[in-house]
Amino acid sequence: MQIYQKKITYFILIALVYILFLFLSINKSGQDGLLINDVSRLNPTYVKEIVFNSEIEGIRETLKIAREQNLNVSIAGKRHSMGGHAFYPGAVVLDMTSFNKILSINTTEKTVTVQSGATWKDVIEAVNHYNLSVRVMQAYNGFTVGGSLSVNVHESDPNYGQLIETVKSFRLLLSNGTILNVDRKENSELFGLVIGGYGLFGVILDVDLLLTDNKIYEKREIVIDYRDYNEFFFETKKNQNIGSLFARLSIAKDDSLLKDMVVTVYEVSNEKNETYFILENSSSGFVKKFVFGLSRKYDWGKKLRWYLQKEKSDLTDPPIISRNNLMNGDLRFLDYHSSRKTDILQEYFIPVNYLSEFIDDLREVNQREDLNLLSATIRYLPANNESLLSYSLEESFGIVLYFNVGLSEKKQKKVEMWTRELTDKALEYNGTYYLPYKLYASSEQIRLAYPKLDEFFEKKKQYDYDEIFMNNFYATYKETE
Ligand SMILES: Cc1cc2nc3c(=O)[nH]c(=O)nc-3n(C[C@H](O)[C@H](O)[C@H](O)COP(=O)(O)OP(=O)(O)OC[C@H]3O[C@@H](n4cnc5c(N)ncnc54)[C@H](O)[C@@H]3O)c2cc1C
Repeated sequence: MQIYQKKITYFILIALVYILFLFLSINKSGQDGLLINDVSRLNPTYVKEIVFNSEIEGIRETLKIAREQNLNVSIAGKRHSMGGHAFYPGAVVLDMTSFNKILSINTTEKTVTVQSGATWKDVIEAVNHYNLSVRVMQAYNGFTVGGSLSVNVHESDPNYGQLIETVKSFRLLLSNGTILNVDRKENSELFGLVIGGYGLFGVILDVDLLLTDNKIYEKREIVIDYRDYNEFFFETKKNQNIGSLFARLSIAKDDSLLKDMVVTVYEVSNEKNETYFILENSSSGFVKKFVFGLSRKYDWGKKLRWYLQKEKSDLTDPPIISRNNLMNGDLRFLDYHSSRKTDILQEYFIPVNYLSEFIDDLREVNQREDLNLLSATIRYLPANNESLLSYSLEESFGIVLYFNVGLSEKKQKKVEMWTRELTDKALEYNGTYYLPYKLYASSEQIRLAYPKLDEFFEKKKQYDYDEIFMNNFYATYKETE
């Protein structure tokens, strides 16, 4: 009898362990795969698996297996694009962040060769030893080089525009395993397709980037009316020693809202103190994060932030700084984990002569819809048509907007509505909007903003005929509605 009872106990124990195992494995990958998302948390998607490779052979093998099993492949960097650009339901996600070596630095030609999963932080740390500096990247250092090329990013040095200007060449791994050298002469068509091409043509392996000198800058700031910015900008830009120039509009809900702006100019300094060239450790910026959090939640927090930006900017942005330290900003102060809300970015590119008209429209929409606007900054983009999906075919100002919005379907429907309204306004001025963010724009709007979109999709099918490389951006817009 005792033996019989022992057997039953063992049997129950084994059954329990088995049930626990099933429960854990369903929770981990489930019938629908592995749940992935991006920084916006607006695009939860079940994928087949996430694969990390630090060697080219591993990446090639992943592509081969995916082809054999008829699976799609998506390519991911740090997943800071906000529209599911780096994944697709059921796809194998190639996470490139382990493929991150700095391969070489040529101090005579001032170039760096870097694997695409490296972040700008990695690049800055490497080139700072040679007193060299990146020409174009984002405002922060945490993005991958491959993700940045695929989006064709830009920032605030008025001497340059889109990242594509600073790319000498790169190597591309096609879905069939072939590796191509791509530059403006060899396989030149792919140069403008892959840069700004959202990972739809192949895997960018390594990239040759043009660098510039690291310098010490001195900051000056001026508060002006938004209607005077155009003239101020072009007058100031004549000075070749300016290394960074951008404007920040007031987000305070008072008379200054989207009217007053602090313009920040960094000019090469006569300062000789070599210690400025030492790269400082990027910090998560506790004070910045705290004040940013207040502005997210309270109107008085917005006023406080605007006051600090206008009167006390030296507290967070030192008056003398090297170019590399200026570019080495840490993203982490923006981390945010609410279960009901999230922060999103949007950017509109407006031909330079229509900047104030667009800001008037933005203010009207912002006040009518009572939006929680957290930041509005302005950068400059010269005309460039090298990338097929170029966002500044005309000389433009980029108006970068950061909003706090609801996550629910109902709240998101509302965001889509006012975003489409802002997009229409931009289109009225012959402007465009930036593609790496949430896919609120309609199929008609994206085609008006990017007249070569269908040609771009045709070329995608030519180079990747069985559409191995997939993401939610392509799936959303490939068919006309
Ligand atoms: C807080 C914040 C600030 C930002 N600031 C700026 C800014 O100042 N300027 C600006 O221009 N943009 C800015 N962005 C947008 C940002 O530049 C893009 O979202 C960029 O793609 C992020 O890089 P990532 O490494 O996260 O790329 P991911 O989001 O992971 O990928 C982006 C795209 O690149 C593709 N991809 C990634 N790696 C490869 C590869 N090796 N080969 C082929 N395709 C690849 C992916 O498939 C995807 O389509 C900002 C975004 C955030 C969230």
